[in-house]
Amino acid sequence: MQRVVCPGSFDPVTNGHLDIVSRAAGLYDEVWVAVLVNITKHSLFSVDERVEMLREVTKSYGNVRIERFHGLLVDFCAANGITAVVKGLRAVSDFEYEMQMAQMNYRLAKVETLFMTTNPLYSFLSSSLVKEIAKYGGDVSGLVPDYVLDRLRARLAEE
Ligand code: ADP
Repeated sequence: MQRVVCPGSFDPVTNGHLDIVSRAAGLYDEVWVAVLVNITKHSLFSVDERVEMLREVTKSYGNVRIERFHGLLVDFCAANGITAVVKGLRAVSDFEYEMQMAQMNYRLAKVETLFMTTNPLYSFLSSSLVKEIAKYGGDVSGLVPDYVLDRLRARLAEE
């Protein structure tokens, strides 16, 4: 059984994330999406809200499970029988950081990292840009699932 993990902040989940998760789900027996619990990073949605939104938008995939993690990703992998990390690569700008992380995780615990090139439809897409555009009333429909779009509008209306 091959279990892999897609880690990240997912604040909130975008169609770019979902593209990677669904493609990984087609390749591996099980995909765990792991939401990083990072108390120092300012986020728009709480970890519980991010987990709930991820569960909602991935419920049609039979082999995707949503979890949270803190501390080292390699420890999370070891504790849960995860053999590899799957990450999406958007642009050259992602590459340097991702390569460093991948090499460190291999050095620490022999955890492999597999990169998938982004769908060109989403190569410009990040959660932070979605939040920034939505904050000023820009249209982000088609960039996040409709369920997330509604949650985003509701949250920004509260602020
Ligand atoms: P970041 O790493 O910028 O904080 P997230 O933590 O939300 O972003 O995303 C987790 C991972 O999802 C990223 O490291 C990247 O591998 C992948 N990802 C995010 N957006 C996209 C996208 N538009 N296309 C492909 N992969 C993406």
